[in-house]
Formats: sequence, structure tokens, C-alpha cells
Amino acid sequence: MARRFTIYSAGSELELRIAHLYAHFLNIYGDRGNIIALSQRARWRQVEVKVDVIDLGQDIDPDYYDFYFVGGGQDKQQIVIAEDLRKKEKQIKEAIGNGAVILSVCGGYQLLGHYYKPHEGPELKGISLVDAYTVAGHRRMIGNVLVKRDDATTLVGFENHSGKTFLGKGVSALGKAIVGNGNNGEDKLEGLAQGTVYGTYLHGSLLPKNPGFADQLLSQALARRYGPQHLQPLDDHFENQAHKRAMTLPA
Ligand code: GLN
Repeated sequence: MARRFTIYSAGSELELRIAHLYAHFLNIYGDRGNIIALSQRARWRQVEVKVDVIDLGQDIDPDYYDFYFVGGGQDKQQIVIAEDLRKKEKQIKEAIGNGAVILSVCGGYQLLGHYYKPHEGPELKGISLVDAYTVAGHRRMIGNVLVKRDDATTLVGFENHSGKTFLGKGVSALGKAIVGNGNNGEDKLEGLAQGTVYGTYLHGSLLPKNPGFADQLLSQALARRYGPQHLQPLDDHFENQAHKRAMTLPA
């Protein structure tokens, strides 16, 4: 088995620019682990990585970042950032139009749609980056989730939300929830995957235990400025062991 710290050459002139949206607000479910995992998988291929936190009131240069991440949070954090996210709507849409990738988890995912209607308080208008909407359900959906994608690969993670997200016609889900609730506990769909826009309810965090998906996002993000990528395979022995173990967990 190859040693863990073997450096794989992927071309050291490559650079991955990551924007972590609202890192200090949408951060209570450990979703920062997605940035840690993606950055490390890039560095193992000798790709330089730059991570910037984009917070309230900060503008985005729509042509600078390759990858955007927005994590999950409680309703009260979502209320704080929703208005600011709407101010960034044009910049984010332009960035995605320029080929940037966005991964959104739970609370962040909900606000990329048309709206999130929490249990209490006003409806939070989203940025309609995707044709989806979310309404708070009467029960919290908490537990392990196993997702089967169209290509028969699987994703594992943990969900903790009351919001029920419904996708518009023609919007593809990330996959089917084989175990757990996924988007809403009704249509058995989990997340969304629309071009370079990804949403999911999977905390965990998601990417460390789903290395194939992490590399899919990494390839897409690098392709924005460097064209199609062939990433050197990594020794994912430990990641795959963790994935396989998580697949056996009950909802
Ligand atoms: N507050 C939202 C909900 O409960 C999102 C929760 C989260 O980000 N895990 O559905």
C-alpha cells in the first residue's frame, strides 16, 4: 500500500482558490471539514491552495475563486446571513456562470433556493441560484444517511434538519436516500447536483468519507481555469474504510 504522505505530481503550477462563505456563522456542524479535506486532496497533488473567508458585508470578485463553500447552521444564523447573501446574489451567480463550483450544506443549501420558511418568524428569501424551496417540517430529521447516486456510487453522512427541501422540475438530486431522510423524508431524494452547483443535507463532514465525490468537485473547480483535469489517484485506504463502515450505520 502506497505511503500516506507520497506526493502525487499534478502540476505544481496549479492553484485552487476557495471562498468559505460565512465561516463564522454557518459553522456549528463541523462542515469546515469539507474545506480541510478538499484542500488536503489538492495539496497531495501539489496544487497550491488559498482559502479566504468571505463574511457579512464583504464583496466577491466573481472571477477570482474556483470553489465556494457554505455550511450549515441554526435558523438564527440563517436569519443573520440571508439578507447579506442576497446582496451577493449577482456576484455568486456570475461566479457560477464563470464555471466556479459551489458546495452548500443544509442551512447554506436551503438559502441557494427561492426561500426557506422556518417554524417561527418570516420566510427567508434565498438567491434562487437553484429551482428549489424549503419549508420547516414538524419533526427534526436526524441520523445517518446513505445516498446512492445515478452512477451507483454511494455517499455517506449525517443529517440534522427540520427543513424539507423540494426540487423544481428538471433539477437533479445528488442521489436517492437509501437510508435516512435526505431532502424532505418524502420523495427519497437527497441534495441537488446542477452543473457546478451542489447542495446536500449531509454533514459529517461530507468530503473526508466520500473521496470520489471530493475529487469530482476538485476536478471541476480546477477545470475552470486550467481545463479538464486527470487527478493522480490517491491511496484512499482509510477514507474508503470509513465510508464502508458508515454504510453499515442505521438511520
Ligand atoms: N436550520 C435549518 C434546519 O433546521 C438548517 C439546519 C442545518 O444547517 N443543519 O433545517
